[in-house]
Amino acid sequence: MLTAYFDPAGRRIRELRTSPAGSSFNGFARTLSEAGYATITARRYLRAAEHFIYWSDRNRRPVQDADEKSLVQFGHHLNRCRCPHQGHADHASLTQGARLFLKYLRDAGISTVVPVTLSVVPHAGLLCRDSAAGCASSAVLARPPYCNIAVTFVRS
Ligand SMILES: [Zn+2]
Repeated sequence: MLTAYFDPAGRRIRELRTSPAGSSFNGFARTLSEAGYATITARRYLRAAEHFIYWSDRNRRPVQDADEKSLVQFGHHLNRCRCPHQGHADHASLTQGARLFLKYLRDAGISTVVPVTLSVVPHAGLLCRDSAAGCASSAVLARPPYCNIAVTFVRS
């Protein structure tokens, strides 16, 4: 299924398939296709899954053991990401792609980690850094000024 999104003879497919947990990319790509995601969005989510796997592997935690706490930690990581060959600019797509990948791992039975419910607490990482300057993403929320992107990520 990866061939629907990347050149079948290209370096990209080889990199995905040979990465840690690379065998799960085909199934994840199929799931994204069946859900009707546009090609460009599916590619973004596949790259997000690749980044999430890379980060998990560097932290010596198999991605199969990931949970919601891992997703939050991955979100924090993106603020200071220096991973080679991994994008980190589009935090919303990266966190959404990682979340969808975790859901895929659970739905496919690759991960058997029980989902954990995270409460929204006034953690500094969830507060919008731009709130004092009138960040549009925090404007609709009451105090404290949680960043909409972080709240959406935690709630989803
Ligand atoms: Zn990174």
